[in-house]
Amino acid sequence: MAVVETECIVLRSYDLADADKIAVLLTADHGVVRAVAKGAKRLKSKFGSGLEPLTRVNAAYFKKETRELVDLDKIEVIESAFSLVSSPEILTRFAYLIDILISLVPAELPDPALYRMTNACLGAVRNRPDSIEAISLYFEAWLLRLAGLFPTWDACSICKVQLGSDQASQIGAEFQLICERCRKSSGGDMVTAKQRDVVLRSRKLSPEAFALEPIPDESLKKLSSIFRRMIGRATGFENVDRALQAGVQGRR
Ligand SMILES: [Zn+2]
Repeated sequence: MAVVETECIVLRSYDLADADKIAVLLTADHGVVRAVAKGAKRLKSKFGSGLEPLTRVNAAYFKKETRELVDLDKIEVIESAFSLVSSPEILTRFAYLIDILISLVPAELPDPALYRMTNACLGAVRNRPDSIEAISLYFEAWLLRLAGLFPTWDACSICKVQLGSDQASQIGAEFQLICERCRKSSGGDMVTAKQRDVVLRSRKLSPEAFALEPIPDESLKKLSSIFRRMIGRATGFENVDRALQAGVQGRR
């Protein structure tokens, strides 16, 4: 049995039989891990409030080769989720972002970049709660990219010519872009040069810097609807928008 000590973000926790809970953790070095927290439902649990979703903690757990669930031994809160969970809008949005993360990322696949990105997005929302829409878009774009589901938007998928800064492109069936010259039909779903540029800039900027970009609401909505279709196809969620809406109503 190995002892693992790692920083992590609590993604979700739910009740198990008796006094126990299961915590789903995004660890810095070991990917998404599911942990049994024995006695966590008791009032005087050693885990305290450290298993609240979106809390950043240092955790120690025991791992047996043959078991998928690990045994949580101790946690130490680095940053509480209090400022985040006090806003229903942010809570609902993160519930959705966590759902898609858990659906798209295989368990126990180490991905330090995913951890850094998620942690940076949480920090950005703490500092700029009003920018939740932009930060959420950034998270979706990066999650798709890290999961290998984002086609390159630098060039036309047919002629491979770099797309110019003034060219609109058509969105293909696999969400790849097609330039004006290669496009066979008029109409169809289009992305403007400015919208494409927002996506390219999300690759280079931190989420907090991205939140400061002047992105029109219309572009945020348009890109988010494209990303949600990508996510919907990859996860089998029939309609991600509807799921998000249900989340909002469920919490009211
Ligand atoms: Zn082309």
